[in-house]
Amino acid sequence: MTVMERLLAPNSPFQTRFYFLARRFVPGETIESALDAVRELNADGLTATLDFLGEDVADIREAEHTRDAYHAMLDAIRLSGLRTNVSVKLTALGLLVDQNACAEFLAGIVEHAATLDDPFVRIDMEGSAVTSPTLAVFERVYARYKNVGPVLQAYLRRTPADIDRAIELGARVRLCKGAYREPEEVAFQDMPTIRKVYARAAEALLLAGNYPAIATHDDRLIDAVRAFATEHEIPNHRFEFQMLYGVRPEKQRELARDGYNVRVYVPFGTHWAGYFYRRLTERKENVYFVLRSLLQR
Ligand SMILES: Cc1cc2nc3c(=O)[nH]c(=O)nc-3n(C[C@H](O)[C@H](O)[C@H](O)COP(=O)(O)OP(=O)(O)OC[C@H]3O[C@@H](n4cnc5c(N)ncnc54)[C@H](O)[C@@H]3O)c2cc1C
Repeated sequence: MTVMERLLAPNSPFQTRFYFLARRFVPGETIESALDAVRELNADGLTATLDFLGEDVADIREAEHTRDAYHAMLDAIRLSGLRTNVSVKLTALGLLVDQNACAEFLAGIVEHAATLDDPFVRIDMEGSAVTSPTLAVFERVYARYKNVGPVLQAYLRRTPADIDRAIELGARVRLCKGAYREPEEVAFQDMPTIRKVYARAAEALLLAGNYPAIATHDDRLIDAVRAFATEHEIPNHRFEFQMLYGVRPEKQRELARDGYNVRVYVPFGTHWAGYFYRRLTERKENVYFVLRSLLQR
């Protein structure tokens, strides 16, 4: 474990005392604060997807806790009338403890979500060790309910085949580059190749997919997708851009003003360390931002 990983381990004193550092990326530790953030996004013409932070639970009681938090979140969204859906990590729903229970918990959440104005449930994608089980649980639940869809990561060598499968199923995909450290055998390591694979996957989804979500802050990819959609006369309502809360907020609003659907991923909760760590490691500007917040106190 690196020093950074030790500091950010769940329940470390750092994590409980230093939430203010993560605030730019995680707008709150409670559902109320997350909904306040969604309210502001909605007012600016953006929709959202809410994620209750947590991953890798070690026993079924913790998975039940996550499941209950999602049901409470869906009730709170309905009451609020806000335009948001939810995203969930299957390891937080017990994927590594009991795959059958995980599938049942997910099915219950998807069934509950189906009663909301925006009924969609997105399954976040985690490290490559859980890609196959995550997609297996997705397909089990998708056989019963269609308002659920996975994330596919362009850096994984297997992803073109997973894109084909999602298109065949008619499933909604969120396409991202991938945020976990992966070995050379399973994932491309260099950005030009990842961008090339991403662009090809995005084109396939735009032509034949079901309302794909183009999740990136990368201008080169955003511009390529815009140009491709224009060239192939794919209307703006057939796809959406997605970005993370706190990252390029001006760009999010600019795209919405240009007439694109833009959804912002809004994570909340006390287990923000893993998520925060991935934001720090993927971009040095994020580290500078956090250091500046420390110096300003
Ligand atoms: C909505 C959403 C959901 C996601 N869900 C998942 C998931 O389920 N699983 C997963 O593994 N990963 C997920 N990710 C993370 C994703 O895989 C990438 O790690 C992350 O988005 C960084 O890649 P990028 O393409 O956005 O930009 P980067 O590769 O970090 O940057 C590329 C270029 O984008 C521009 N850029 C990026 N950030 C900024 C900035 N702050 N200011 C100015 N320019 C900037 C710059 O031009 C930069 O050179 C998600 C990302 C998003 C947006």
